[in-house]
Amino acid sequence: MQELTHYLGGAHVNGTSGRFADVFNPATGEVQAKVPLASSEEIDKAVEIAATAQPAWGATNPQRRARVLMKFVDLLNRDMDKLAEALSREHGKTLPDAKGDVQRGLEVVEYCIGAPQMLKGEFTDSAGPGIDMYSMRQPLGVCAGITPFNFPAMIPMWMFAPAIACGNAFILKPSERDPSVPLMLAELMEEAGLPKGILQVVNGDKAAVDAILHHPVIQSIGFVGSTPIAEYIYGTGCANGKRVQCFGGAKNHMIVMPDADMDQAADALIGAGYGAAGERCMAISVAVPVGDETADRLIDKLVPRIEKLKVGPYTAGDDVDYGPVVTAAAKANIERLVQSGVDQGAKLVVDGRGFSLQGYEDGFFVGPHLFDHVTPEMDIYKKEIFGPVLSTVRAQTYEDALSLAMDHEYGNGTAIFTRDGDAARDFANRINIGMVGINVPIPVPLAYHTFGGWKKSAFGDLNQHGPDAFKFYTRTKTITSRWPSGIKEGGEFNFKAMD
Ligand code: NAD
Repeated sequence: MQELTHYLGGAHVNGTSGRFADVFNPATGEVQAKVPLASSEEIDKAVEIAATAQPAWGATNPQRRARVLMKFVDLLNRDMDKLAEALSREHGKTLPDAKGDVQRGLEVVEYCIGAPQMLKGEFTDSAGPGIDMYSMRQPLGVCAGITPFNFPAMIPMWMFAPAIACGNAFILKPSERDPSVPLMLAELMEEAGLPKGILQVVNGDKAAVDAILHHPVIQSIGFVGSTPIAEYIYGTGCANGKRVQCFGGAKNHMIVMPDADMDQAADALIGAGYGAAGERCMAISVAVPVGDETADRLIDKLVPRIEKLKVGPYTAGDDVDYGPVVTAAAKANIERLVQSGVDQGAKLVVDGRGFSLQGYEDGFFVGPHLFDHVTPEMDIYKKEIFGPVLSTVRAQTYEDALSLAMDHEYGNGTAIFTRDGDAARDFANRINIGMVGINVPIPVPLAYHTFGGWKKSAFGDLNQHGPDAFKFYTRTKTITSRWPSGIKEGGEFNFKAMD
């Protein structure tokens, strides 16, 4: 049994709390490693190391810091296969999907190589007589990030790349379900030339998170995970005076207009609904066809495609569409919600219950499900299922479809499929959701734009990556400077314009 470690001050360090969590291979159901769960003393140690290392890193010029990220990109590409394999083994997603996970993180690292440009600051010459005014963006100091299981490479990189590019030290508390890739990323950053102690990984659960939330030296917390935990971390972190951004759960609707290309819409729904076993915050979990005729045509297109889906372990090769879900508990939760859908009167058009894979009977596989005639009061509509379950809610008009998505408590992503530019434009303008796709089912913005939902899908003002990340990981200092050409006598007591 492999015992994983923390990564502190540039070395793998065994856990000392005596508490561990099981890390599963979701395809076989076997426990493949034990991950230590940090105590508050271990968080204290990481913060002490980070606070000692950060001032020199913060004073290193930005292009030298960026060069570390440049080298890191090379190393990610060099080790892509190794990272993807480790990721699939603990998460369960297919190898191509695991590579996408690394790639979408890598793209943010590439973007952060431009940090010197983003950190330039502002300067006003002669803001008043003999007075110059300038603003600079300075690092916060020690920052922390708490990440979910579903993107164990991408989301840590979305946080630590900009934080470190800005001159901060970063403590990552990854998901205890798949901690190996985050540990590998920390090693690679050091191989790329990052000084010891600037990126550390502390494994753990609520105890470690609470220690982060209450540590006076930690200046900022980035969180991605489920909404109840996002709300808890946002509330507690803010109450403790930290800068906090938290990204939560989702229930993403895809509106299918009567004029949509139905093959295209069905293909999009298959990838966005069932890819990664539905364990994506940008997965489409609700299809909203407009009109019964559209709904019937869409269901007719979906059913044969769903029946053809290949579910299997990542080791089975490229023709597997999706793998197991992450834990037995996740599987049980999905099964419970599917049963509630049946009990509450939705029509289970494709029934994935009782799915079993020969040779992998103990794996956490879930068959694909398709519900029709789902209504807003049902639990399968209200709750995030995070599994391969697509619900269809029939809307009678475009306005009904729009209101449905707008009234849902989550607001991460959404999409509309139509050939009507006017409808698409109206949808994009009026919808109260952060990321919108027009004939694009998973509209994840690229690294140089920002990523973030609205409503109960995000807490805080700034999004992830893009220009917002440089605002989140720095604070502004504005200097007003006057070099005397002859100081006037006497103080000035009035708060006045500089004219
Ligand atoms: P989770 O909320 O269970 O865990 C996320 C992190 O919080 C983990 O590091 C975990 O150790 C920690 N945590 C768990 N329980 C805690 C507690 N009681 N107190 C303090 N910390 C705790 O989420 P998950 O299951 O790992 O990830 C799936 C969720 O993440 C889904 O809801 C998904 O929609 C969401 N997600 C959102 C985004 C986004 O950008 N909005 C992206 C990816 C995932």
